[in-house]
Amino acid sequence: MARANSLRKLRAIVTSRKNADNLSARVRRTLVSTLYTNPASLAIGAFNGIASTAIAAWVAELPVLYVGCVILTIIAVARVTAALGLSPDKAHRSTRQLEFIYEIGAFSYALAIGTIAAITIWYEASAAVEVLMVANALCYGVGICARNAGRPNIALGQLTLVCVPIMIVSLMIGSLAFIALFVNMVLLIPAMSSITMNVFKVLRDSIAAAETSAQLADKMQTLARTDVVTGLANRAGLNHAMVETMMEIEKDTRLALIWIDLDKFKEVNDLLGHPVGDRVLSEVARRLRDVCPEGATVARFGGDEFIVFGKISDRMESERIASEIHAEIMRPVRIDGDRLEVRASLGVAVLPEDGRDADTLMQSADLALYHAKVGGRSQTRFFDPSMTRDLIRRREIEGELRAAIANDELSIFFQPIIDLETGKIRCFEALVRWFHPEKGELRPDEFIPVAEETGVILTLGNWITAQAARAAAQWPEDVSLAVNLSPLQIRAPGAALGILNALREARLDPTRLELEVTESLFVDDDPASSAFIEELAGRGVKFALDDFGTGYSSLGYINRYPFSKIKVDRSFVSGENVGKKSDAIIRAVAEMGSQLGMEIVAEGLEEVEQVQKVKEAGCTLGQGYYFSRAVPDYLAMMLLAQEREEGIPIRASA
Ligand code: C2E
Ligand code: CA
Ligand code: CA
Repeated sequence: MARANSLRKLRAIVTSRKNADNLSARVRRTLVSTLYTNPASLAIGAFNGIASTAIAAWVAELPVLYVGCVILTIIAVARVTAALGLSPDKAHRSTRQLEFIYEIGAFSYALAIGTIAAITIWYEASAAVEVLMVANALCYGVGICARNAGRPNIALGQLTLVCVPIMIVSLMIGSLAFIALFVNMVLLIPAMSSITMNVFKVLRDSIAAAETSAQLADKMQTLARTDVVTGLANRAGLNHAMVETMMEIEKDTRLALIWIDLDKFKEVNDLLGHPVGDRVLSEVARRLRDVCPEGATVARFGGDEFIVFGKISDRMESERIASEIHAEIMRPVRIDGDRLEVRASLGVAVLPEDGRDADTLMQSADLALYHAKVGGRSQTRFFDPSMTRDLIRRREIEGELRAAIANDELSIFFQPIIDLETGKIRCFEALVRWFHPEKGELRPDEFIPVAEETGVILTLGNWITAQAARAAAQWPEDVSLAVNLSPLQIRAPGAALGILNALREARLDPTRLELEVTESLFVDDDPASSAFIEELAGRGVKFALDDFGTGYSSLGYINRYPFSKIKVDRSFVSGENVGKKSDAIIRAVAEMGSQLGMEIVAEGLEEVEQVQKVKEAGCTLGQGYYFSRAVPDYLAMMLLAQEREEGIPIRASA
């Protein structure tokens, strides 16, 4: 029964050892490292053993014990040195090596201390010396089981090696007391085995549990830093990678940050659905990963924006990577046999010249991207310090513009548009002016684009239309009002209604209003634009195509929308590029106008010769400083009054 029991225990020890060997490498290393923690306890134990042996040798006058003393000292010194030099945190040795080195020291020390105790018994040293050395050996054996429970095979091996010499000698002497000592030790070994194994299991399980939760935490962190759609780093992942890179870079390291924004990606989502949108994003992500250098971070910054961030050797390299990225994205994407064209705008900034830390670098790349988008999209822009100055000025203007409307700093000026045949005023174009208390008069070219980008144009535009309509209501019925409209104003919800309301409030007939739009309105092919034009044209409002010749000059738009006027841009009339070609173009446009029953306005007429030329070319209307600059409403009234009462055309010579 007892044999079966101890067999079972032995089997349990063997299987748990097997399990112990199956432990994950990290758990095992942690356990092995417990062997090396606190080398001081090792030194104290060794000192105790050596001192006791020395005392025993002296008291019992047994020279062999002096030999034992020397052996213990050699082993102790070697072990303490090894423990200090081989701390597992520092040592690059394998776990098995560390364990083996420890085993040699531990086993030889245990055997030595057990043998010394056995010798004192064998040579029948005094009872006190025997007690001292046996107690010393057994205390060591039991204590070591507790200390080394992390590696139970070592602990139990040591206990056994301590006990075996004493047990052999006890048997050899064979007296009742020593037989009893023998039995005690036979019982001690399995008892200590069971205790040690229990401690070991608790230790192992808690380390394994800690290990598992650490792994889980790792996994969660990786998930939290990954974008689900593309598998790239997400915003958090990018931040993390940036912080890490910034910490490890040296002084002369260069980094490039490329900010990529897919052009009009919203349309892909709206027209083809989100699943297709996601596939396009995944494909773009895959291409980015392929084309980016190793070690670079590729992240999806949200929506249709991506960021590539990595070390480069020089600025040229960032240019090369950016152009490769651009080329890769522009390759059509195939989805279920359909070809999709993807376009992207890129903004690039380089550390250290465009920003010394991650935040400034991001701002610079963002600004460069903004310029790429404003500059017509599908292009790459590199950060330039002037972009910051632009931005500061824009921000200033943006803030002040909102206040300007309330503070009455804005006013509407009117520039006449003249019938080239009769010299009479047919229309006034409303042009906004900003009289800034500090900066003086600001041109619309400076603040209208800011108003457009920031959306202030909606408030501003409504105000302009209302003011201009009120002034125009005072003019004779046959003089019309031209108002410039930005695409944003036209696409805003309720835009047409807003204009009709302004007309009603000012009591101006819709047929007297002419809205000037540029071709940029049609580029995006927004259905809201067509709806706006159709609705207002239905109420009698007229439309003029402004700045003709500067954009696409597509005849398609002229055909599609009910324009009553085409305004030929002033660059065809004045400036260095004016010549035979521009004459021919004006002629062709004028010819087309007369065929289609449209009026052709020549803009920017400053000289009498220019007036004569455009008239000969067939333009029906003219506008420019030659006739008049844009003037305040009361002067516009005066011009009209002069013309009507005195019958003097604005420029008789025209
Ligand atoms: P635009 O619609 O082409 O307006 C004509 C511009 O040419 C005006 O500049 C006018 O002052 C200028 N101009 C007229 N005759 C001559 C000339 O003989 N020589 C020269 N060199 N220039 C001449 P302005 O008032 O600075 O307006 C610039 C642009 O700002 C306008 O170009 C228009 O696109 C925009 N803008 C002006 N007022 C408004 C507005 O109320 N709403 C919107 N959305 N845009 C406006
Ligand atoms: Ca205009
Ligand atoms: Ca114009």
